[in-house]
Amino acid sequence: MKENGVVYLVGAGPGDPELITEKGLSRLKHCDAVVYDSLASDLLLREVSADCEKIYVGKRAGSHSMKQEEINRLLVELAKKGLSVVRLKGGDPFVFGRGGEEVLALNKAGIPYEVVSGVTSAVAALASAGIPITHRGLSRSFHVMTGHTLSEEGTLPPDFDAFAKLSGTLVFLMGLGNLSLIVNGLIKEGKSGGTPAAVIESGTLPGQRIVRGTLSDIEERVRESGIKSPAIIVAGEVAALDFSSTAKAPLKGCRIGITGTPSFAGKLHKELTSLGGTVKHLLSLSLVSYKTGDRMKEAYKELSGYTWITFTSANAVREFFSGLVECGYDYRAVGHVKFASVGNGTAKELLKYGFRSDYTPENYQVRDLAEGLRKLISGKDRILIPRSSRGSRELNQILQETEAAFDDVVLYDVVSQTPDAGKEDMAIEGLDYVTFASASGVEAFFETGGQQEKEWFNNVKVVCIGDITAEALERYGRNADLVAEVYSVSGIAQAICSDWE
Ligand code: SAH
Repeated sequence: MKENGVVYLVGAGPGDPELITEKGLSRLKHCDAVVYDSLASDLLLREVSADCEKIYVGKRAGSHSMKQEEINRLLVELAKKGLSVVRLKGGDPFVFGRGGEEVLALNKAGIPYEVVSGVTSAVAALASAGIPITHRGLSRSFHVMTGHTLSEEGTLPPDFDAFAKLSGTLVFLMGLGNLSLIVNGLIKEGKSGGTPAAVIESGTLPGQRIVRGTLSDIEERVRESGIKSPAIIVAGEVAALDFSSTAKAPLKGCRIGITGTPSFAGKLHKELTSLGGTVKHLLSLSLVSYKTGDRMKEAYKELSGYTWITFTSANAVREFFSGLVECGYDYRAVGHVKFASVGNGTAKELLKYGFRSDYTPENYQVRDLAEGLRKLISGKDRILIPRSSRGSRELNQILQETEAAFDDVVLYDVVSQTPDAGKEDMAIEGLDYVTFASASGVEAFFETGGQQEKEWFNNVKVVCIGDITAEALERYGRNADLVAEVYSVSGIAQAICSDWE
């Protein structure tokens, strides 16, 4: 019999995927199966490994798609198969999350478990809405209650009067449906109708909405605004304060679909979210390297004969240098060589290996690189161009017109990591922008099924990192709306920022 696996009850945080803990994220990245519900962000599911089993057990007030007992059973079954299972729960697993019931079931079955606490919405949604849950002189405590069980008989629970008399901040989860009962109950138990109150929908998420008022008028204001679940009700003096972030968020409300290799997409994700944007990963690309293949081995052996090496991507730089070492050489083999790079990102990558780019064109396009290089070389030069299989032929065309000799060697290929990516994953419906960072990315997107989305492409702006990428897009019948002026992650972000404004 197989040894039992482990179940990790992980708090996913209040909604913003960046508000998961490092420990939670690490458990998620290394698990064999993840059991999740609707409060956990879809973006977090991107973090699991390719062979991790994803099981949705969606639970929302009213529409239980899987009963708690079934979820308990499922967790036990998965662990009995020897799997390492993450039970991903919104907020903190023990804050009205029924985490305790899952623990009891695991205990009963003798399955080892670990609870990884999460940032609860009971605190984080308030902070995100600018409401400090305690504040010197105004509120010395906070109290969290469920608003869910209140209305079973349409009456307040017996301990509600004691709760209503507390002077601190009162927070109700799952209470939107019983808002009327709650506010009237608080007033009946002695709270003044003028007590500040607020309702926060989808706290920390892009769709966050806040309605403020007092106990007397909050119900009407909520009705007018059409606030929906998940929502939190706050009552107390602090609800009148507004300490919402004042840091600049130029991309607030902007939804961007991105494509690229995990390394590029990761950097772009960080940059765009730090500017306040929301990111959806549409297609992940992976790199197939030929750095230790025969053609590259030959090139490494002949390095003493080359005077220039030209890089047209940061990937090429990384692959070239790691291949050099893996093939038994070291950096001294290129000590005499001059380097040309297509853009800032590529030049920066080169500097990580201790080499400065001798030539980087101002416009970061392969054409400019070729034209600039043409002026710097003579018939005595020999140029090595280690590049991606789908790289531009323009460089070769221009160099052919010069006296210099050059060798163009395929160093890597970029392919779609999810050849069977579902239409759903790649849907661009509802997005404001879609970004492409390479011609290979464009090709992979359409080859993987992106063409089904053609009509949606009319409602979204397409951003390309440079002309080569834009040209690849044109081959699929669409012109780029924006072409980043600077060939880098921040170039894409800047292009979107100036357009969004
Ligand atoms: N364990 C979760 C709470 C689960 S109960 C936690 O710690 O956050 C579900 C309730 O939490 C919802 O009905 C709603 O009241 C609240 N909630 C969860 N996420 C929320 C969010 N992002 N914004 C507002 N309320 C939220």
